[in-house]
This record gives sequence, structure tokens and C-alpha cells, in this order.
Amino acid sequence: MVHVYVYIALKNRGMSVYDFNRCKLCGKNSATVKYQLKQMALYACASCDFHYIDVLDDLLAEQPEGSLLTERARTFIESKLPQNSIQHKKNLQFVQAYVAPAGKHCLDIGCGAGLFPSLLQQTGAVARGIEPQQIFREFSLEKFQLSINHQLIDDHYWQKSYAEYFDVVTLWDTLEHVNFPVETLTAACRLIKPGGHLFLDTPSRDSFFYRVSEWAYRLSRGSKPLLLNSLYSAKPYGHKQIFTTAQLTALVENSGVTIVGRSSFHRSRNKLVIVCRKNRA
Ligand SMILES: [Zn+2]
Repeated sequence: MVHVYVYIALKNRGMSVYDFNRCKLCGKNSATVKYQLKQMALYACASCDFHYIDVLDDLLAEQPEGSLLTERARTFIESKLPQNSIQHKKNLQFVQAYVAPAGKHCLDIGCGAGLFPSLLQQTGAVARGIEPQQIFREFSLEKFQLSINHQLIDDHYWQKSYAEYFDVVTLWDTLEHVNFPVETLTAACRLIKPGGHLFLDTPSRDSFFYRVSEWAYRLSRGSKPLLLNSLYSAKPYGHKQIFTTAQLTALVENSGVTIVGRSSFHRSRNKLVIVCRKNRA
């Protein structure tokens, strides 16, 4: 069955139609459906072998209209904080191995409830954050007194006034969630000062679990897409793409930064965790 799903996508603040045969990584018209999953199809590119699903977030749905932070939502977000806190303390250790954050301008893209910018602030950094989901921005303001921006990184708000402004930009578990990862990364790198740092982590397609998931799908001839379904999600802000090390390396190095290290604080083999330095012109 050939799927040519055309979705209405919001890109660069204008409505456009996205054809998923056009690879989200290399831009060539060589992607086709490889796996049919629950409520989504997984495309693979014949040219660069990038994997992504045929789902995009409708970012217009996130227009502020009154408070969304109910008592129930607040309790739920609070319940996730201890575990996220452990993860973000490791992320902070990783950052501090390269940069002393005090006095530095830092931007956390996809900051969720604001935990990481608040940790940065405690070190004396000047921390900003971007989060498309209003409910998390409200939580961050209430809990950490941190005002988080809703403007996405490719918005002219950032691109016009903050070019080469930040010492540190972080993308923790973000690149797999965004609609267009190449555009996100390119826009993020533009905001880093020459010699400044980019830190990011994202799931790895080289992981044993990913390979097992593909085998399980093939062996069952598609009747058991269970494992692959757990790696991707058609839900809003779910996982839309997963990079191999080679794909991520090529992407960041084409965005004007150079990989200078990998984390020794994160022991998970299912993740790519890297630090890059912005090239000097
Ligand atoms: Zn491609």
C-alpha cells in the first residue's frame, strides 16, 4: 500500500502543505512508507535513510486563552519533577564540564516546565527558555518565577534580535519532538556566539532496542509493530524522528558547529548526548 499522506502543517508561521515523500533531513523526494504503525506511518528516505513519521504538530492550537493549569495538571507535572530533576542535574554537570554558567546567557529550547533554566539560574546564569505548550509555561512562572517564551526558535523574535547572542544553547530531548529538526537546529545555531556551546541529547537509532524493534516488525510482517510504536508517537509533541549518530553528526556539522565531546554523565546507550562549539568565522 502506497501512502501519500499530505498534512496541513504550520511552518514558519504560515499554513503550508507538507508532502512526507520529501525527506525531512536531506530534502530529496525519495522517502516512502517503511513501516505502518498505530495511527501513523514511518517513512524512510532511500537517499539518506532518515526515519520519521507522517505527523506534525499544529502549533496554531497553542494560542493562549485563559489558564490551562488546573489543580490536576499541576499535581501531574509536580509528580514528574523528581525524575526530571535527576536527569537535568546530569545535564547541568555535562554543561559545567565545558562552561562556567555564572553570568552567561543561556537558552534552553523545549524547556517544558522550566526545570533546566531554573537550575541554570541557580548557578548565576542568565537563563531563558522556549516552550510551545502553554500549560508548562504557566507552571514555570508559578513554580520557578521564570517567564518562558512561546516564540519558537525560528521566529523572527529570536532571529532578528538574538543572532550570535547566547553563550550556551541547549536542546534536551527536543530534536525528536519538533516538526522540522533541520530548521530548528539551523535556527538554534545562529543564536550562538562564535566559540559558544550547543548541548543536546536525543534518542539514538543505533541503539540495540531500535534494531530489535525493526526485527520484530519484519519477522511478524508488520503484525507486531508494538516496539516501534513505543519509540514514536502520533500524539501532540510526541517523537517524530530518530537520528543515527552519523545523521546527527552530519546535521550539526552542517549547521556551523563542531562536535567537541560526548557526555560521560549520561550512561544510556539509547541516547546521543553531545556538546558542540560554534565555529569562528
Ligand atoms: Zn533523506
